[in-house]
Parts: sequence; structure tokens; C-alpha cells
Amino acid sequence: MIIIIGGGIIGVSIAFHLAQAGIKDIVLIEKEKLLGTGATQYCSGGVRHQFTTPINVLFSIESMETLNALANKIDYKKYGYLILDMETDSLPRVKMQNELGVDSQYLTPTQIKEKFPFLNIDGVLSGSFFSEDGIADPASLLEYYEKEAKRAGVTFKLETTVEEILKDDNKVTGVKTNKETIKSDCVILAAGVDSPPLCLSLGLSLVMNKRRKYVLVIDGFKKPFPLVMEIPTGWYIKKEGDDALVGMSGKLEEVDYEKQEESTEETIEATMHRVKGLEDAGVKKVLSSMSDETPDKHAVIDQPIPGLIICTGFSGHGFMHSPAAGRIVAQMVKGEKPCIDISCLKLDRTPIKECIAI
Ligand SMILES: Cc1cc2nc3c(=O)[nH]c(=O)nc-3n(C[C@H](O)[C@H](O)[C@H](O)COP(=O)(O)OP(=O)(O)OC[C@H]3O[C@@H](n4cnc5c(N)ncnc54)[C@H](O)[C@@H]3O)c2cc1C
Repeated sequence: MIIIIGGGIIGVSIAFHLAQAGIKDIVLIEKEKLLGTGATQYCSGGVRHQFTTPINVLFSIESMETLNALANKIDYKKYGYLILDMETDSLPRVKMQNELGVDSQYLTPTQIKEKFPFLNIDGVLSGSFFSEDGIADPASLLEYYEKEAKRAGVTFKLETTVEEILKDDNKVTGVKTNKETIKSDCVILAAGVDSPPLCLSLGLSLVMNKRRKYVLVIDGFKKPFPLVMEIPTGWYIKKEGDDALVGMSGKLEEVDYEKQEESTEETIEATMHRVKGLEDAGVKKVLSSMSDETPDKHAVIDQPIPGLIICTGFSGHGFMHSPAAGRIVAQMVKGEKPCIDISCLKLDRTPIKECIAI
């Protein structure tokens, strides 16, 4: 039996891909009544190829095959992504992406001003744009994975909490839940921000930043526009129906919710500064969730001890990278070579340099 811990977009994608690979006897365990109620339900739905590290670009390219094939089902709209650089030049990033086959474009501040007149370009050194980037609906992708996994025979145990991953002679032997002990020689940990304590009981250290991300919905954005994102602040604005959603990286917090007011004010100020003509716009909604962010903002995909695969910590990219993540874990379970070299995503690694904070 194969056990997956966590029914967010990553766990459910893994269940789907294992089933698609012909693997039987898969059980997904989720502590809540419904799937996707963790970070997944707060996801803004951004899909981009424009990352600063090759590994993330490769995850996007691999995931696009699925996202494009499901475009209608998941409401994938290619509005493009415009990234504004405030501190470093965009050129090295664009060159790296172009070398990997992503046709992103370098833009000067004048070109940005001409193409996107609704933006104030104060403080912008340069930028990049890619028209294939866009936004899609995370809930629809989750539903698709779930339906197909169920159809292929995956069992979903909801309202069941894994309290401990069991180990014998340095090999994982199953899990202890609040209801029963289940034996398994393959446990996949995809519990998002709740993964670190489950690693601790195995003597493994998985670190996640204590970062709460806030998003605000502001009214009155009927026309299409690209997702605009700023580096290094992580501020972004994207289309949300006839409104817009704005967010920022958020601060590292010791106590959940403590800095909510400060973070939302900062996001509103950044939005007023960057987007013209917002004087009369109203804030409709404020949402927040702890982020699944590792210290170097890259996922952990690793098999640190026999019988355990960790696949979590997608650091704000988990929705768009869920197809590649699921496919790779299925390949690991089958003993095949992963379609992307994931050696840099080990639990015990030299931090990867990444400057995009969302
Ligand atoms: C505000 C915000 C905006 C974002 N925007 C984007 C975006 O634009 N594009 C993008 O790609 N990504 C985005 N992300 C990131 C994305 O949402 C996450 O990377 C992704 O949802 C992570 O999925 P997950 O399955 O790893 O974690 P989760 O969705 O958190 O799922 C983990 C699941 O494990 C369950 N669980 C935990 N512990 C246990 C246990 N002991 N036993 C059983 N079950 C357990 C939880 O209940 C939860 O359902 C955003 C995140 C936030 C917070």
C-alpha cells in the first residue's frame, strides 16, 4: 500500500499521477473534512515560466503540458506576466529562460511605459514579459485530479490525522493516525506547512519559514491585463473576475495574524503607488494563509530514508508545479529516473539562490 499524507493540490496530484502510472492500492489521508483547505484554497492561480532558477523554469515547462491540455477545464487565461525589477537587471534571468526555450522578452522602462500605460514605472530598472504566462483556477485542477484518482481506485480517508510516521531499523513502516495504525512500505509526505513536525519524529529536519501571505480583492478591473509582479518586494496584481487581486510576499512572523494590519496597509500602499487611477477603488476582501515556503524558496522532493518520499515546500508555486511534482513522485515510486533532475531539491542541500519572493 502507498500512503500519501495531505490532500492539498500536491498530495492529490501525486495520487492522480500514481494511479495514472498504473500503481494500485493508494490511500490519501487528509485531516480536514474536505480536500484543498490548506494553502491550496488561498492560491491566486498564477502560472508562470518566468523564474530566476533553471529548476523552477523546468518545472513550469513540464507542468505546462498538463495545464495546456486542461486549459478549458481549469479556465487557464494567458494574460501574460510582467515582472518589474527594482534592484537588479532582468537580462540574466531572461537569457537563462530563453536558453531553456522560454521566449520571455526583456523590456526597458520606456517600453514598459508604452505597453502598459496603467502602470507607474517609478523605481523600475527593467522588466520582462511572457505572453504564455497567466492565471488558472486551482480548485478546478484539484477537482480534476480528485475525480480521476477516485475513478482509478484511490481511497481518500478524510477527517483523519496522521500523528506519526512509523519507522523500524531506519526504514519507514507505516503511519499512526488518530484512528488506526496503517502499515506501508511507501509513505509520501505532502502535508504542506504541517510537514516539519512529522519529519521531526523521524529525526529529519525540514524547515519552513513562518510567513503569512495576505491577498486583497479590489474592485473595478473589467479589462484584461497581465499579472504584474515586482522584484524584490513580491508585490503583485492579477485579474480576478471583474476585479483585481493584489498580494505581497508578507513578513516573517513569530505569531500568526499579529501583523495583519501592517501587511495589508503595506500592500495597499504598494498598489496605489504602482497602479494609476485607484483613488476610488474599494477593498472587497482580505484573505491570508501561512505559506509553504522553505528558506531558499524551492520545494523539497527527496527520499531521505527508505520508504519515505517528501514532496512539499513549493514556496508559492505549488499549484502551477503540481503536474510536474506528481509525475516525478510517481516516477520515483516506480524506481524510474525522474523526468527532471531533482538532485538540487534534496532535504539536506546547499541553499539555492532565488530572488523572486512569491
Ligand atoms: C496567498 C497565496 C497565494 C498563492 N498564489 C499562488 C499562485 O499564484 N500560483 C501557485 O502556483 N501557487 C500559489 N500559492 C502556493 C500554493 O497555494 C501552494 O504552493 C500549494 O497550494 C501547496 O499545496 P500543498 O498540497 O503542498 O499544501 P496544502 O494545500 O497546504 O495541503 C496540505 C494538506 O495536508 C493536510 N495535512 C496537514 N497535516 C496533516 C496530517 N498530519 N494528517 C493529514 N493531513 C494533514 C492539510 O490539512 C492540507 O490539506 C499561493 C499560496 C498562498 C498562501
